[in-house]
Parts: sequence; structure tokens; C-alpha cells
Amino acid sequence: MNFKHESCGYDYVDDLKPPYASGCRTCALRAMASSPGYASSNRLGLLTPAYRKALEATFPGEDVRAVHAQVKTTSERASNGKVALL
Ligand SMILES: [Zn+2]
Repeated sequence: MNFKHESCGYDYVDDLKPPYASGCRTCALRAMASSPGYASSNRLGLLTPAYRKALEATFPGEDVRAVHAQVKTTSERASNGKVALL
């Protein structure tokens, strides 16, 4: 499945691998979904302090749980595309 990124304008296959365009929210979500912080938060079922901090730094002023939900959707979309996550 291909999708067009909201702000970088690149077409990428649905996956979490670089490149990540700076300033593109979709790319930022992809980068976050491939981060160790997301992996451990997902495994533990809670937002770890480091992951929470990363979300706050990357998406300033936004609701951390709402952004996490978007990261999760991004990760699941990549999984559904049968793309290796790491
Ligand atoms: Zn992008």
C-alpha cells in the first residue's frame, strides 16, 4: 500500500524505515514507531518515561496519549503490510 505523506510529499511504501523527512508529521510518526521506546512501552503496556519524553519533544504541545495512539496506528499499518519492523 502506498500513501502520500502529509507534508513531505514523498510517496513511500507503508513501512517504518528511513528516510524520514524532517518537518513531516507522518515521517515523525514512522520514526517514533520504530524506536526502542515505543517497543518497550508497547510491550509493557504503559508509556515509559523516556518514551513519553521523546513524544513530548517530537510533538510539543500535543496530548501524549493521542500521539501515542497515532504511533500505534502507524506501527500496525506497517505490520499489516507484512513489513519487518526492525
Ligand atoms: Zn513524510
